[in-house]
Amino acid sequence: MSYKAKILLLYTGGTIGMSKDFETGALKAFNFNKLLQRIPELKQLDCEIETISFENPIDSSNMNPQEWAKIATIIADNYQLFDGFVVLHGSDTMSYSASALSFMLENLAKPVIFTGSQLPIGDLRTDAKENLITAIQIASLRTENGPVISEVGLYFEYKLYRGNRTTKINAEHFRAFTSPNYPQLVESGVHLKWNEELFWTSPQSTAPLLVHKNLDNNVAIVKMFPGMSEAVLTAIVNIPNLKGIVLETYGAGNASTEDWFLDLLQKAISSGLHIVNVTQCSGGSVNMGQYETSTNMKEIGVISGKDITTEAAITKLMYLLGQDIPAKDFKEIFETSLRGEMI
Ligand code: ASP
Repeated sequence: MSYKAKILLLYTGGTIGMSKDFETGALKAFNFNKLLQRIPELKQLDCEIETISFENPIDSSNMNPQEWAKIATIIADNYQLFDGFVVLHGSDTMSYSASALSFMLENLAKPVIFTGSQLPIGDLRTDAKENLITAIQIASLRTENGPVISEVGLYFEYKLYRGNRTTKINAEHFRAFTSPNYPQLVESGVHLKWNEELFWTSPQSTAPLLVHKNLDNNVAIVKMFPGMSEAVLTAIVNIPNLKGIVLETYGAGNASTEDWFLDLLQKAISSGLHIVNVTQCSGGSVNMGQYETSTNMKEIGVISGKDITTEAAITKLMYLLGQDIPAKDFKEIFETSLRGEMI
């Protein structure tokens, strides 16, 4: 008899398992066991599925580092017992969670696939069934050497992406996610098609799984806009205990060359604040020094986020700040791809 992969399905909340509240008409999470009753198709899959649910499933707008630690703990506690993990999660912050978990799970050697849906599973036109069933199938894929995928992925609308490369781009379309700077890992059609060369394998894939739950959320995302005032940026960099900022700049990492702006950044960096330059464009990379409007930022020690997404940048910042990294090494480590999140 052929080997049947064992998959742990974790429900954290999100539309996929929500139904309408009769009184208010708003969508809210319902009992996970009922969710499974609505998908008898799961029994036809060629794998063994066990399920577990957050005690209080949440809309993903309430996600935070404590909830990420819960997901990481469930995966760690069950790591030896299962071949793959499927995390059902609201789509709103799924890219942040998939990015965070990719950093929190070091030496990951099994698939952790995030998925969810735009319409509840009970809805007649739901996208939930295809997302859920194919995500489980992908998590079950194996060769004689072990699992095909051994990274944190995000599956939505016929595509598996590297989780930390994704961003939510649409609040209505079934095609809600994209991966602007990295190709899809798997495409689902009549057959599942993939290109192994794109997969991430941990440099230490034979080392034991290390779970990092200590994330530091003394961070902020600041999006530049023409006319941003000195008062606004001064207030932000002076927030007590703030340790890092993801600065969303223009184009290839450009921003104002006004003295007040560069002086403020320079003072903040010398006092220990880590400033990461990411582009506010939906694709492409930061290249400090390409234009005069980024040369000074490079000289004062602004960190290059290269082609990282904002979601991966902010979670990488929280992760690295939680790791006692000497100040002198922080920039170099941030600029290094740790889980395939940047070039
Ligand atoms: N608000 C929901 C959530 O992110 C939307 C969804 O599930 O897609 O939890």
